[in-house]
Amino acid sequence: MKTPLIHMQKKEIVALGLELAAPLELTWSCYSGSEVACGVCESCVLRLRAFEQAGTKDPIAYAKRGETRPQAGETSQEGAA
Ligand SMILES: [Zn+2]
Repeated sequence: MKTPLIHMQKKEIVALGLELAAPLELTWSCYSGSEVACGVCESCVLRLRAFEQAGTKDPIAYAKRGETRPQAGETSQEGAA
């Protein structure tokens, strides 16, 4: 029997498509509810931090770029989700 390469390729294409289809510029969820992400609420800060840790730049615009590093005396909240 031959290996069903066509299915494997299809599967890979779908997986790749799902990755590429992720609209990063549309998936922000700012607590401010305005048209532009505020950049300072917990949601924005966590997002900015995630992009920073991933070594990439967040493509969306922010009203203000908050500190992405934990403030002095503040412990990491990454396990709070
Ligand atoms: Zn925000």
